[in-house]
Amino acid sequence: MGKIIFISGPSGVGKGTVISALQKRHPEWKFPPSCTTRSPRPGEKDGDTYFFISREEFEKRIEKGEFLEYAQVHNGNLYGTLRRPLVEGVESGNIVVREFDVQGFAQAREKLPREYYISLFLKPAEGVDILVQRIQERAPISEEELQHRIHSMKQEIAQENLYDHTVLSHHGEIDRMVEDVEKVIAQETK
Ligand code: 5GP
Repeated sequence: MGKIIFISGPSGVGKGTVISALQKRHPEWKFPPSCTTRSPRPGEKDGDTYFFISREEFEKRIEKGEFLEYAQVHNGNLYGTLRRPLVEGVESGNIVVREFDVQGFAQAREKLPREYYISLFLKPAEGVDILVQRIQERAPISEEELQHRIHSMKQEIAQENLYDHTVLSHHGEIDRMVEDVEKVIAQETK
């Protein structure tokens, strides 16, 4: 029996970077793609991060109960996590890594046996201020958008207690966070 590793954390905490680092360091682990109705961007290959499917196909799969969770994202497209690659991955003894927002995790955990997964929350060691600063550095956004992002970050951080483990993200120390995540996974899967 393997384990699904669910990873969440507020935007800007370095989730994407952690997942890419784990992918490089553990090619034997599984990183199943999501399904989406949005079009591929230049350079995006079907089946890498996403399976690109039509809305009609997506709706058919909802009806068949193929998703562990799905959501309509602010861009109007549907995104969802297929149940089968996760469940088959664990049942055949693999470590399956999956990033989720807090809501996606809350939906997915309801549909899986408790022993199938562990969950990790990445939390900024220096508080949300550093994330706000990072968001502002990435791209210019309006004051309204900024307030909205700060509000959702605080809401996400308030959900930390839903998770089995918290790993701290220290500013400028991504390698340390990747190692801490690996330690938790090693400890939970030995
Ligand atoms: P993008 O289109 O920029 O790749 O992603 C847009 C948003 O969709 C991101 O916030 C991302 O976290 C979210 N997303 C990607 N895959 C999934 C999924 O499987 N389920 C849910 N609920 N959201 C997803």
